[in-house]
Amino acid sequence: MHVQLTFCLLLFTIPVHWLPFYMVALYNYYHGIIDHSGINFKSQWWQPWQPDAEFHDQHHQFFHCNFGFNMDVWDKLHGTMRKTNRLYTEETFHGDAPLIQSAEAKAILENNDDPYLLEQMNKSDINVAK
Ligand SMILES: [Zn+2]
Repeated sequence: MHVQLTFCLLLFTIPVHWLPFYMVALYNYYHGIIDHSGINFKSQWWQPWQPDAEFHDQHHQFFHCNFGFNMDVWDKLHGTMRKTNRLYTEETFHGDAPLIQSAEAKAILENNDDPYLLEQMNKSDINVAK
């Protein structure tokens, strides 16, 4: 069963007034559109918990960091914010990627002919942790 469907089951077991339900749904739809727009909308002063749209773009691009959708506080707390100068691969878990200049990263690059890794290395200065 899909996870989001599981969340919706609560609506049928716990009474919820329509107004907070619609407010939460609108908030999520709004930020879903903003975060998937491809435009780097900046965090607003009135929503300090909401990261820049680039935060979510990098979640899709690198898939092993920036897990939060409407907050980056949990990624900061658990060390899963994307870090600069790191080599992320399919083997990267928990945000632990070796530094690009490290022997570990060089060994990964030498044993791998994936052009994506080289491209990623060139982009390694993106997503500076705030
Ligand atoms: Zn997304």
